[in-house]
Amino acid sequence: MATKFDVIVIGAGPAGYHAAIRAAQLGLRTACVEKWLGSDDKPVLGGTCLNVGCIPSKTLLDASHKFIDAKNNFAEIGIISDGLEINVPQMMARKNKVVDNLTKGVAGLFKANGVTVFEGSAVLHAGRSVEITSHKGDKALLQADHIVIATGSVPVEIPPCPLTDGLIVDSTGALELDAVPQKLGVIGAGVIGLELGSVWNRLGSEVIVLEALEEFLPFADRQVVREALKQLKKQGMDIRLGTRVTGSEVKGKKVKVLYSDAEGDKSETFDKLVVAVGRKPYTQDLLAADSGVALDERGFIYVNDLCSTDAPGVYAVGDVVRGPMLAHKGMEEGIMVAERIAGQKPMVNYDCVPAVVYTHPEIAWVGKSEQELKADGETYVVGSFPMAASGRALAANDAVGLIKVIADKETDRILGVHMIGAHASELIAEAVIAMEFGASAEDLSLTMFAHPTLSEGLHEAALAVSGRAIHVANRKRKK
Ligand code: FAD
Ligand code: NAD
Repeated sequence: MATKFDVIVIGAGPAGYHAAIRAAQLGLRTACVEKWLGSDDKPVLGGTCLNVGCIPSKTLLDASHKFIDAKNNFAEIGIISDGLEINVPQMMARKNKVVDNLTKGVAGLFKANGVTVFEGSAVLHAGRSVEITSHKGDKALLQADHIVIATGSVPVEIPPCPLTDGLIVDSTGALELDAVPQKLGVIGAGVIGLELGSVWNRLGSEVIVLEALEEFLPFADRQVVREALKQLKKQGMDIRLGTRVTGSEVKGKKVKVLYSDAEGDKSETFDKLVVAVGRKPYTQDLLAADSGVALDERGFIYVNDLCSTDAPGVYAVGDVVRGPMLAHKGMEEGIMVAERIAGQKPMVNYDCVPAVVYTHPEIAWVGKSEQELKADGETYVVGSFPMAASGRALAANDAVGLIKVIADKETDRILGVHMIGAHASELIAEAVIAMEFGASAEDLSLTMFAHPTLSEGLHEAALAVSGRAIHVANRKRKK
């Protein structure tokens, strides 16, 4: 006999745990199945994001930034920081503590909201029945009126560089190195390559990033990417674009990577190699032949705008469906689905998904870029502000980057905001709010910002759209 629930969520990553908590808050009898196993034989909640993604990477990014800031910049501001040292085991232990704290926090939230957790791998059958096999081989059968699939994604592997224990690693391995490699290779100048490459570069590794394309961060604004390349190079990151990795040879404790670029065949030998060439949706052993859930041509679970699959009452959210693989996108989808199940009518606004790359300076954007607008034949006006003119950024000794507001030429409505600079991950929220409310550049111009703040840069960029910025020379002046 199957145990009956109103909602069964498969996967307790950010998309799944948001769906489960919201469903339970709305009075639905909710279960969540998770197969990630902790050392205590209990399921670990939080998925990729909390365990091996957003949280551990940001913990190491923040720690390594503090180190490099102290090393390179403190003397200039009058703080003597001689004798700085890195204690990698301590840095890793603290990262693990942060992760542990947060994953246990999700378990606490499940308990407080009455979500029933099942440990094991779930298989979805016809009629919304879910078969669970625990790591010990025990079976359980559940059934629900509504199923939410939130099984996430896993790293892509490439044949020339098969993962090798502790030497050729994916992002998870790159978050667990026990010492600073002298020379670190990274394949892929995507978000993970830049973030984790930055961590080890700051801690002392010589970092070489091999990127297949002639450009990187294709969805970011080109001017912002040029500035990022300049800043990352200055920090010592050697980003080689237009390289094709053809093979690798493990030699003792080192790995030789063979690649070619416009000049011909080349190689580099590294102490560690990180493969960060993207992630793919994870549906392995999830769908029984009769589940009725279809995949698209790229292996994502096929869903409509409301995250409904082809099977009635079955939804899918997060990395396992189309759209950017970002925790906050999955969280909003999870909440939308739970509320729709409860009869409410929310929608996710896919035009307003912020993206952040947590390098230093941080890169962030929302909405369309100039290159996208040009391709769409849209007419627009750009206002930009260099952070070198920000009083607060100068005071903080962190005055690099720029903020760019792009507005519709006819209506002045904000179409996109792009930035690179300190705390861009926080500043972008102001742009997201403005765009969610359909603001024009003038609306932002007429808003008062506290002085001195980095946010004033966004104000000035909005003012620059109509030639009214105060702290930069405007291309055109407005009376
Ligand atoms: P996941 O977090 O992958 O969770 C899926 C869960 O489902 C897992 O716990 C898995 O064990 C479970 N599961 C799978 N199949 C089954 C099954 N059959 N039965 C039971 N359980 C199952 N995103 C950001 O927005 N910001 C960041 O800063 C950021 N940094 C990142 C850094 C790194 C190094 C990585 C790798 C990713 C990062 N991401 C970041 C991406 C982010 O982690 C993902 O977008 C997010 O975790 C996706 O959430 P999800 O719930 O869809 O899937
Ligand atoms: P990505 O898609 O961001 O970048 C992968 C890069 O690898 C691309 O530039 C691609 O051209 C390159 N590449 C692919 N095959 C290659 C090859 N054979 N040789 C050389 N280069 C190759 O993927 P990622 O960095 O692995 O990140 C995966 C996902 O995780 C992303 O979708 C991202 O959204 C998410 N993530 C987000 C954050 C964040 O929000 N800050 C942080 C980390 C990861």
